Amino acid sequence: MRRTHTCGEIRSADIGKKVCLQGWVRFSRDHGGVEFIDLADAYGITQLVFDPEDISSGADKNSISLALKGFTRESVVSVDGVVRKRVEGTDDPKNKTGEVEVLITKAEVLNRSNSPPFELGDQKESVLPGEETRLRYRYLDLRRTEMIEALRFRHKFISAARGYLEKNGFVEVETPMLTKSTPEGARDYIVPSRVHPGTFYALPQSPQLFKQMLMIGSMDRYYQIARCFRDEDSRADRQPEFTQLDIEMSFVDMKDIQDTIEGLLVHVWKAIYGKKLETPFMRISFEDAMNKYGSDKPDLRYDLPMIHITNIVKDAPYEIFQKVLSAGGIITGFNVKKEMAGDKIGRNEIDRLIDFVKKNGLGGMTWMRATKDSLDSNIVKYFTPDVLSKLKKEMDVKEGDLLLLLAGPRKRVLETGGQLRKKLAEDLELFDKGTFKFAWLIDCPMFEIDPASGKKDAFHHPFVHPTTSLDIANVGGASFDLIMNGSELGSGSQRIHDPEVQRQIFRMLGISEEKIGTDFGFFLEALGYGAPPHGGIALGVDRLVSILLNRETIRDVIAFPKNKKGQSLLDGSPQKVDDDKLEELQILSIAIDDIDIEDIK
Ligand code: ASP
Repeated sequence: MRRTHTCGEIRSADIGKKVCLQGWVRFSRDHGGVEFIDLADAYGITQLVFDPEDISSGADKNSISLALKGFTRESVVSVDGVVRKRVEGTDDPKNKTGEVEVLITKAEVLNRSNSPPFELGDQKESVLPGEETRLRYRYLDLRRTEMIEALRFRHKFISAARGYLEKNGFVEVETPMLTKSTPEGARDYIVPSRVHPGTFYALPQSPQLFKQMLMIGSMDRYYQIARCFRDEDSRADRQPEFTQLDIEMSFVDMKDIQDTIEGLLVHVWKAIYGKKLETPFMRISFEDAMNKYGSDKPDLRYDLPMIHITNIVKDAPYEIFQKVLSAGGIITGFNVKKEMAGDKIGRNEIDRLIDFVKKNGLGGMTWMRATKDSLDSNIVKYFTPDVLSKLKKEMDVKEGDLLLLLAGPRKRVLETGGQLRKKLAEDLELFDKGTFKFAWLIDCPMFEIDPASGKKDAFHHPFVHPTTSLDIANVGGASFDLIMNGSELGSGSQRIHDPEVQRQIFRMLGISEEKIGTDFGFFLEALGYGAPPHGGIALGVDRLVSILLNRETIRDVIAFPKNKKGQSLLDGSPQKVDDDKLEELQILSIAIDDIDIEDIK
């Protein structure tokens, strides 16, 4: 290797040394005949200087001068030179190499670059081009410090997690990519088989069934940095393929799995931040999370719960409340305490909050301001002194607090309340962006009703062990989520290991006997050969890393992501396939122009 140093390595201690650097020309400028060049690579930027008047180096100035003509932006170059201190006052303290520069003694262009479509380096968001351009030229975008940092951080996270798991006896096993459907609530990406025309593999939505079969195969402790594929309708921050840290263990209960993840995160925290992460994480039941925070992944960095007051105000002759109550609805509220600047929220701001609530599905919002001895609002006249005093007690009201009250159908109130809580926290800056507050969401239901189809669905997936008898209305499931700062980072569960219970769950989900046989027969058979009690979890690596780095989207921590519409702008996929390939696969090709879209609808 000719290169003696990277572009992020040279310091004052190297002054006087002869060095060879190779990298990309990020920027160059001419200062009265003296040329300054920022040479960049994955490690940093070093300033190069060519001064035709400086004869001390004894360099061949003409050939350097000629070579520098080819030093266009983002061209790859090689320079030899001597490290020297920068001229007094031209230091760049923000740059690790900012005290020194390299006086060029030899220059060579290794590969010319076309003029790049956008500027690289440490730019602020505002000078970056739109994301579509960044994704189209991702290899250039990757040269930006932010992207380099993201990928290195991601690697560090995975490497630390691996270190912990290996120390604790976990074995990394690769499970198949060409497989059968593994239901996780999305559609499958399917891959046609040429050798068996008319049949298809599915790309795994997760390694769920295979990791469970590894437990049946006595593997005991498995992990995998697993790529998962889910065909979902475009959602802002989803990717068709994403990475999970997937884990499965035998002879464990839910707490053992949670302890393992806490241990892993403590280890990762130490490796990345050199800090102790506080454990055990707090636990919150699904029901409490929904009731208090209107979300199954509440942000617990701030304490702003919904306080239910249906029972307190139920007799007040206030028409809106009475209407809601007679329709079976609920009344709840937030106390935005004076300490949270509740007293600073003015009339206009309240109107904006009312609009927000309306946009999020409720008819409106009532509010009250706490004065020294009473509550100030145009609706207090409907409440007796006794009701007011109960309300103040229940909502812990002190002078200067602002009460925001919501009324309506239970589900909608909780959901809108959850949104309002988030908005208030952001507007009032109730949390510190650098705090990471983990918690376990526990006591989850086994089933949920899909609001679109009205069909019974598995709350997590159909392999969760029930915690109650199956013939009651609200069957409980032995599953749990890891949540942090308002995001779900992963879910895990104790699994069903009895084939009869598993079959029963499939039936309860409305899967026909025939389908149970064709889709899951192999798995039920496997469970019948001595499946140990087992359980596991999967953490979303992309999401976790993007939150830790405070990046807007998971696309910012994936080297080659798809755009929001699931397209790769870099390679143009998905793309049409030639007719002869389809023929080989015995798949019928119909030109889209020949189809009457109305007919399909
Ligand atoms: N397979 C589940 C998922 O992808 C995780 C698990 O239960 O281990 O969410």
